Amino acid sequence: MKYADEFRDKALAQGLAGAIGTEADLQRAYRFMEFCGGHTYAISRYGLEELLPANVRMIHGPGCPVCVLPASRIDMAIGLAQRPEVILCVYGDLMRVPGSQGQSLLRAKALGADIRMVYSTLDAIRIAEQAPNREVVFFAIGFETTTPPTGVMIRLAERKRLNSLSVFCNHVLTPSAMHRILAGPDIGNVGRVEIDGFVGPAHVSTIIGTEPYECLAEEYGKPIVIAGFEPLDMMQAILMLVRQVNEGRHEVENQYSRAVTRVGNRRAKKEVSDIFELRDQFEWRGLGLVPNSGLKLKRAYAQFDAEVRFAMQDLHVADDPACECGAILRGAKRPVDCKLFGAVCTPETPVGSCMVSTEGACAAHWTYGRLRDYQLGRAS
Ligand code: SF4
Repeated sequence: MKYADEFRDKALAQGLAGAIGTEADLQRAYRFMEFCGGHTYAISRYGLEELLPANVRMIHGPGCPVCVLPASRIDMAIGLAQRPEVILCVYGDLMRVPGSQGQSLLRAKALGADIRMVYSTLDAIRIAEQAPNREVVFFAIGFETTTPPTGVMIRLAERKRLNSLSVFCNHVLTPSAMHRILAGPDIGNVGRVEIDGFVGPAHVSTIIGTEPYECLAEEYGKPIVIAGFEPLDMMQAILMLVRQVNEGRHEVENQYSRAVTRVGNRRAKKEVSDIFELRDQFEWRGLGLVPNSGLKLKRAYAQFDAEVRFAMQDLHVADDPACECGAILRGAKRPVDCKLFGAVCTPETPVGSCMVSTEGACAAHWTYGRLRDYQLGRAS
């Protein structure tokens, strides 16, 4: 496949693995967090950890938007969907994310709520046009990559005078979460997760550019390498991180230069800043309340804000105590550390959010890493 196979070349991957093995100092450990769920998926799918020397370890981060959505926001959405006038439009993965007490949008739909799976914001526009007497709410989630399409949907709704369409906004920001991970020795009372550098997000960075990471690298003295999603992208980024650590540098480097620039997508950023503003704080599964990490609609767009329109109240609910998603999302534990992994919790019967999306650490390990564990005799 053109533009993909070039980045999956086995001989080149082995060459990069050899360079990492040669340059990684045996006297020290290298702990790199891949922030993004797409990278977690690539690591599992292509078995990249098996190519790395024992002292270079990857730590899964919280960059899967479905995974970090807390149960409280699912409960709020279910409450909204149970209103008879509401049609709730959601992306497919969200249907199975657990809320509190075993609830999910899928269950709410089975019990009669009008919840419809959509593939894009344009589907929500179409549904609102077809049902002018219903309240159509789009459940907006995602990092900086998916915020611009939500903004475009609001502009379209405004232009088409679709007064029955609104947004339940759950868009979150990557740099704030990285800041929380690096700054928070008390996250979840599990202590600081030691990280020597980040593989930075790919898609997010096409929008925001590399600039927003510069203050993080400087403030915390950690190297950050923005990387693409293909195996060679990842291996090259890890080599770049090893070199930075060895040389005592903490810079933002851009491995994914074929798609990412320092300034990002100016037009998309303007669209977002015109329509959205920062919340003081937003709850993340695993990270708790993170300051300045979520977006809401500006007052000028309040008519499209479902939280305003339906006077929604913030909820705070506890996760299933047996589920280790919180610890996994902040890099403190791995999927196999959870007693429910593969026994009670599978992609068909997810107990936690990390088993729902293909980008979730538990789902990725279940699909790919688990088989490799058996092959390598590591499964218990
Ligand atoms: Fe949560 Fe399931 Fe992963 Fe355990 S295996 S941490 S219950 S998603």
